[in-house]
Amino acid sequence: MPTPASVLLSLALATFKPSPVPGGVAVVAIPSARATYHGERVLVRAHGKGWEAVVGVPLGARPGPDSLDADGQAVPFTVLPKHYPEQRVQVANPRLVNPNAEDEARIAREAALTGPAWTAWPEGLTPTLAFSQPTPGALTASFGMRRIFNGEPRAPHSGLDIKALAGQVVWAPAAGVVVLTGSFFFSGNAVYLAHGEGVVSLFAHLSKVLVQKGQILKAGEPLGEVGMTGRATGPHLHWSLSLNNARVDPRLFLAAEGRRPTRR
Ligand SMILES: [Zn+2]
Repeated sequence: MPTPASVLLSLALATFKPSPVPGGVAVVAIPSARATYHGERVLVRAHGKGWEAVVGVPLGARPGPDSLDADGQAVPFTVLPKHYPEQRVQVANPRLVNPNAEDEARIAREAALTGPAWTAWPEGLTPTLAFSQPTPGALTASFGMRRIFNGEPRAPHSGLDIKALAGQVVWAPAAGVVVLTGSFFFSGNAVYLAHGEGVVSLFAHLSKVLVQKGQILKAGEPLGEVGMTGRATGPHLHWSLSLNNARVDPRLFLAAEGRRPTRR
C-alpha cells in the first residue's frame, strides 16, 4: 500500500478539546517551561508570552483540587467529575480474567518493558496534538468504561476500540518513533509509538506488526494489521493514547472524529 505524503496537512491546524476530567486533558498556564504532575514530566508548550502544560489526567484521579509542580511552585487546577458507564464482557479463556502463576510472571516481565515505553521522551520530537484515525471503522464509546470480565470487575478500559476487519492496515495517526513491539498477554501483538514529550500511542491486538523498535514513522505510515490477539473478543483496533503516563481518551485528539483521513 502506498504511503501518503502527508495525512495531516489539512488537519494540522485543528486543536484538541481540553477536558479536565479523569481520562481527559487539563490545560494549565504555568510560570516555567518545565513541570511535573504526580512525579511525571508533562508536556509544556509556549502560550502567548508564557507557558502552558498539557496534562493527561489518569482515569483513577479523584475529582477535586489537584496541582502541578512547575519548577518547585505548586500550580493548582481542578479535576472535574465524569461518570463512565459499565461494560460487561465475556471471554472464552478464563486465564485472561484470572491469570495463573505462570501468566502473572509473564505479565510482570511485560510490565518491565511497557513501563519505560509509556514514559518515553525521545529527544527532538515535538508532538502534534491533532491525530488522524489510525484505521477506518466505527469508533466505540468504550474509553473509560468500568469493565466486568466474566462477572468479575477489572481495570477500566484505557483505550478506544475501532471496529475493523482483520488484516486491515493500521497506520501511524501522527509521526513518532517505535519504542516497543512484541506479543503481550493482554494486548496481544502490539506497537508502542512515542510521538514526543511523553505523548505515546499503543496499538493492540494486531494480527501482524510491520515495524521494528527504533523505526521512525511519519503520519500515515503503516505499522501493523488489525487482528484479535491477546484479550479480544473479535477483530478490532485498540488504541491507547497517553500523556505523562496517564491514558486519556484518544477521541479528544482526533482532528476529524469518525472521518477517514484523506489518503493519496
Ligand atoms: Zn480495547
